[in-house]
Amino acid sequence: MKNWSGKSVLVAGGAGFIGRHLVTTLLEAGATVHVVDNYATGEEASMKALCARFVSHLTTQTDDISENHVLPPTDVIFNLASPASPRHYQADPIGTWKSNVLGAFHLLDHAQNCGASFVQASTSEVYGDPLHHPQVETDWGNVNPVGPRACYDESKRAAETLLMDAWRTGQSDIRIARIFNTYGTGMTAGDGRAIPNFMSQAKAGQPLTIYGDGSQTRSLCYVSDTVDALMRMGLMDAAKGEVINVGNPVEMTILQIAETVNAHFGSRSKIVFEPRPVDDPTRRCPDIGKAKRLLGWSPIVSFAEGLTRMAEDVRQPTEVERVVLP
Ligand code: NAD
Ligand code: UDP
Repeated sequence: MKNWSGKSVLVAGGAGFIGRHLVTTLLEAGATVHVVDNYATGEEASMKALCARFVSHLTTQTDDISENHVLPPTDVIFNLASPASPRHYQADPIGTWKSNVLGAFHLLDHAQNCGASFVQASTSEVYGDPLHHPQVETDWGNVNPVGPRACYDESKRAAETLLMDAWRTGQSDIRIARIFNTYGTGMTAGDGRAIPNFMSQAKAGQPLTIYGDGSQTRSLCYVSDTVDALMRMGLMDAAKGEVINVGNPVEMTILQIAETVNAHFGSRSKIVFEPRPVDDPTRRCPDIGKAKRLLGWSPIVSFAEGLTRMAEDVRQPTEVERVVLP
């Protein structure tokens, strides 16, 4: 990891799952870290231990930032401030729009005021239900603009457009990471995503719930690999003005993922099949050629290793929270 000492870094959404890993790794690398978070899905308790180690902490929404909120001079901004789990972003679709569009506007203003580099946490959801496979950065995506996932997909797409306009007009140094499904320690049971659900179900000896027949695919990236890519994007000139896929290209069906989690935890839980959520993407796998070429990055943590790290984390969820999506 390159040296971040002397850098002032603002992490919006720093109390969330990826945010807490990013903040911890930035601190270890010597950065001065400032966090903005509204704790909509972030964990206040987990942040308390970290709080003593970073310099400032503003509890507000990025979409509410005004002249009354003084943001510190910043060299690099990471914008992670958005709900990421379908359960969370669909529970408050208008709030999701505000976070992703108004939040990006406000943070862009701050980046322009202090000449900061801006790393946007975008998503593989901009590809929607992809027409091409694996997904390359040049794909335009296939999103249902009026479906229940659209508040997230389309607001992330809008933020990409805004930020690339700022780049093209020479107003800002923009770097866009299209993050594919990321998992790891610190995910909570209430999160509703596949890995925390399967893990907590397997540990509790309850049935693992597969939505649909389990033939849909995802490619799972361990969180330390995702954080490594984001930090490279924050420092490396090669990322300026670029859109870069960040993900692990090992593609698995959801059924394979559920069976692997079950086996990993020595669980004999049965697998049950439930209705597939509306607009649930069928296949998802990143082409990471660009990340390899520009950042010298590729993921190093295997799925088995990632599950082992999660199993060893005593904080992992044991409660199962059921979620019903439209
Ligand atoms: P998360 O929900 O755990 O964390 C998001 C954080 O942002 C939380 O702390 C939340 O309280 C905060 N937040 C939300 N809206 C806010 C607002 N308006 N103002 C201030 N803070 C706000 O999600 P995550 O999994 O850590 O994802 C982080 C980022 O990465 C998100 O932008 C997400 O879209 C993106 N991403 C994540 C994944 C993944 O698999 N985890 C995949 C693709 C993209
Ligand atoms: N999924 C599932 N059971 C669960 C949670 C999710 O079968 O308990 C499926 C979901 O329908 C999707 C995949 O797993 O096809 C990944 O879902 P997740 O919410 O983790 O991420 P995303 O849909 O955003 O890729």
